[in-house]
Amino acid sequence: MSKIAVYPGSFDPITNGHLDIIKRTNRIFENVVVAVFCNPNKTPLFSMEERVEMLEEAVQGFENVEVDAFEGLLTNYARQKGAQVIVRGLRAVSDFETEFQMASMNNKLDSGVETIFMMTNNRYAYLSSSIVKEVVEFGGCVQGLVPDNVVAKLEERLGG
Ligand code: ADP
Repeated sequence: MSKIAVYPGSFDPITNGHLDIIKRTNRIFENVVVAVFCNPNKTPLFSMEERVEMLEEAVQGFENVEVDAFEGLLTNYARQKGAQVIVRGLRAVSDFETEFQMASMNNKLDSGVETIFMMTNNRYAYLSSSIVKEVVEFGGCVQGLVPDNVVAKLEERLGG
C-alpha cells in the first residue's frame, strides 16, 4: 500500500487554500509530493522556478513534504514517484466538472492511481490564484490569503 500522495497544480502562485490542502494531506499520508505542473496551454505569471521556490519557502518546516516540477502525463509522473494517490481540492460546484473529467481520464489511463478529493476549508472556499492576482493588480491587499513571501512577490510583479 502506497503512503505517498501527489498534489498537482499550477500554483501560480500558491495560496493559503493550497497550503491548507497540503497540511491536511500531510496528516493522512506519509509523504506528500507537491508537483508544479508545466501546462503548455497556460501562460503563468511566475516561472516554474519561481513557483517551486515560493512553494518550498511556504512548506518549510513541514515534515515529509517535497516540492517538485513535472510535465507530461500525471499518471506516469505519479507512478514514477511511487504514488498511488493523486489529491485534488474541491471548492464550489464549478470545480466538479473539470475535476470529474480529469479524474475519469486519469483512471482510464491508469486505474492503479486513485484520485481523491479534499473539500476546501470554508475560510478559503472563494480563494484562487487568479482572484489573488486580480486583487493585487488593482491595488488590493491579499495579506492572510497567501503566504507572506508570496505577498511580496505579487506586489513586486503586479503592484503599481
Ligand atoms: P490547476 O491549474 O491544476 O487547477 P491550481 O493551482 O489552480 O491548479 O489548483 C491546484 C488544486 O488545488 C486544484 O485541485 C484546485 O481545485 C485546488 N485548489 C485551489 N484553490 C483552492 C482552495 N482555495 N481550496 C481548496 N482547494 C483549492
